[in-house]
Formats: sequence, structure tokens, C-alpha cells
Amino acid sequence: MKEALGDTTMSKLKTIEREKRFGAHNYKPLPVVLTRGEGPYVWDEDGNRYLDMMSAYSAVSHGHCHPKLVEALRQQAGTLNVVSRAFYSDKLAAFLERACELTNFDKALPMNTGAEAVETALKAARKWAYTVKGVPTDKAEIIACEGNFHGRTLAIISMSTEKQYRAGFGPFLPGIKIIPYGNAAELEKAITPNTAAFLVEPIKGEGGIIVPSAGYLKACAALCKKHNVLMICDEIQTGLGRTGKLLAFQHEGIKPDAIVLGKALGGGLLPVSLFLSRKEVMDVFTPGDHGSTFGGNPLAAAVGFAALNVLVEDKLVERAAKLGEYFQDALRSINSPLIKDVRGKGLLIGVEIDARVPAHDICLKLLKRGVLTKETHNTVIRFAPPLIVTEEQIDETVKALSEVLVEMNVGVAS
Ligand SMILES: *Cc1c(COP(=O)(O)O)cnc(C)c1O
Repeated sequence: MKEALGDTTMSKLKTIEREKRFGAHNYKPLPVVLTRGEGPYVWDEDGNRYLDMMSAYSAVSHGHCHPKLVEALRQQAGTLNVVSRAFYSDKLAAFLERACELTNFDKALPMNTGAEAVETALKAARKWAYTVKGVPTDKAEIIACEGNFHGRTLAIISMSTEKQYRAGFGPFLPGIKIIPYGNAAELEKAITPNTAAFLVEPIKGEGGIIVPSAGYLKACAALCKKHNVLMICDEIQTGLGRTGKLLAFQHEGIKPDAIVLGKALGGGLLPVSLFLSRKEVMDVFTPGDHGSTFGGNPLAAAVGFAALNVLVEDKLVERAAKLGEYFQDALRSINSPLIKDVRGKGLLIGVEIDARVPAHDICLKLLKRGVLTKETHNTVIRFAPPLIVTEEQIDETVKALSEVLVEMNVGVAS
């Protein structure tokens, strides 16, 4: 055994080996074992500090261990946690009311993960199609976009165009149509009298931080209205301030029929998701139609309520708008031939890297410099820090990236 392998390095290797031994290999994490988080920072077991530029795919928009959220969790955890929806609890109403108030939807249905909220949206859309729109039984169609990411359940991967997400998991759910993203004319072509809903991400997150051109969502909303089709925005990643507006569709001045929220709704502490819609859509659900044992439990409701309030009190939406611009400008000012594009909105930013350099290698080098992030789609590096990030922390990140790119560029040239 080499002297240099200290106790903590050994323990890190052991932790990783044990996880590999006892866990399914459905992820390939970067080789770092995190033990603690605070604000925009996380620490590994050697005490190294990292800036979290991933925020758990936007689930940690409030920062790690936000004191007000931890306090809300602590208080509720010692009071009442899970009762199921067989009974009322004193926390759910306030959470749903606050969510409706802030987002301007009539009603909300609580679930846990994002995928469950998307499933809820699909079920609502189908039942609305049959009971309100008058689509013949079992003929309802859902339109989704190429390169979408809405989660990992069987119904949802039936809408995916990502080969690996589907390979080996068929047969898939029928009643789905896929259209190219970013082209409203394609939506109109795909709509039939049986179309129940158009499900769309205002900005494609996992699909590579793809921002559609201005006016796209607006045109889609008009088409949905014209043809009596529900427009459902998946705001699980883009919502709750991430893009510099509370909801990303607000950049287009539209109002979809429904949205799904998740990730940051749990304040970085718990899985909390919501399907929100106008009354006429939500009212298709009757007792027994749909549910979840944990959905809307008092602990989740208390944390979700606090997460929404902190968003407003700490002005996180405004911060994301301002700092997002600052971050993107700084990234654009990096003078490297390896950067092909910097795109995004607010603090949801993708940097497209020259395909000759694996973005994964850049992430490994950033890790060594104390910046945590992960590539998406092999060529895009994601920068989506907690919305509480400061200009100094952004500067540090940009400096680390430009140094890594210089190193990598030397490699490419030789
Ligand atoms: C993460 C994500 C989901 C799925 O959320 P889970 O909590 O992982 O099930 C759905 N839609 C979008 C846009 C997402 O980014």
C-alpha cells in the first residue's frame, strides 16, 4: 500500500467500492464522496470544499441546508409527518393555497417526485379529453417534443426520444406523438381532434439547456387554445425562479392550462412535487381516481410551504435574473476556441464544448479545482448553482473553467 493513500482516500475508495458492490449501476457519479453542505458549498470526507454548480439538477435552488427550511423541517418533524390522504392534516391547505397564489393556478395536486407529477398531468389530460373535450374512449393523444426529459417512469419514457432511456424497456405507452422542439408549425400539424395535451419544457434541461426562440411558447399557447388542446408546461427544472422568472413560461407572457413543479419545491430537503391547473382540468379527478401515500404529507407540505416563502422573502427569482446575466456575460468573455456556445436563461446555463474534448473530462478537472458540475449530452457543461450564489463565487467558477480550458486546449493542439 502506498504511503500517499491516506486514511480518507482509502475510506473514499471503500465507500465507492461498497456502493458499486451493493447498489445498482444506474448512475456513474464523479469520484467524490460528499459529507456536508451549506449554502452553495459542499464538502467531501477529506474536508475539501466545492462550489455546487449543479444544485442536484436544480433541486437545491435555495442552497444546501437553508436555515429557515431546516428549521421548518425540524419543527414539523417533531410534530406530525405522515398521515396519508385518508385524513386532513393542518399543513396541506396552506401549502396548496400558497402555491396557487404564487403561480396563479386554481388548484394543485401534491405528489412527491417530478415523474409522479408528470404522470398526474398525463392522467388529468387524458381524463379531461374524455370527459370534457369528448374524445372517443382510449383515443386520446399527447404531444411531446423531441429531446424532452420528463422523468423515468414507463409512461414518461414512452415519450422519450433518447435511445438509452428506452432500450430494453418496451413495450411503450400508446397515444403519444413526438414533434420537433422549437417549431410551432409542427405542433399545428400534429394536432388532431383527439389531441388531449401538448407537454413541453419551456427550456429543455436534460436535453442540453436548449432555449427555444422567442415567441415559440406564445405561438404554441395560441394553437392549443385554437384547437382546444391543453398546454402543459413541465417547469420541474425551469420553475421556481431558476430562469429569472418565477415560472419560465412567464418570459413569454402566456398562461398554460397546467404546469408541473418539483425539484426546488422541496427546498433541497425532500421530494415535493405538484401538478397545478385551472379548475376545469383538476376537477376531472374524483375520490379514488389517483393518489399517493406520501403525496402532500404534513412534513412535505410544511417544507414546500417554507420553500415557496423563502423564494419570495430572499428574492431568489430576482437574484437568478441578475446573477444569471452576470454569469452568462462572464462565461461569454472566456476566450477559448473550445467554447462553442453559451446559452440559457437566468441561472440555468449550458456551455457547449468542442466535441473533440469530452465534457466529462472537463468536469473531472473542475472537480479538482473545487467546482462541482456534470455534463449533459456529452458536449454541454451545466452551470446551475443555487440561486443564493454570489458574484465572487461565479467569478471563481469562471476562472476555474477558463484555466481548465487552457489545459485542455493544449491537449487538443498536440
Ligand atoms: C428532473 C425532471 C423531471 C423528473 O423529476 P424526478 O423528480 O427526477 O422524477 C421531470 N421533468 C423535468 C423537466 C426534469 O428536469
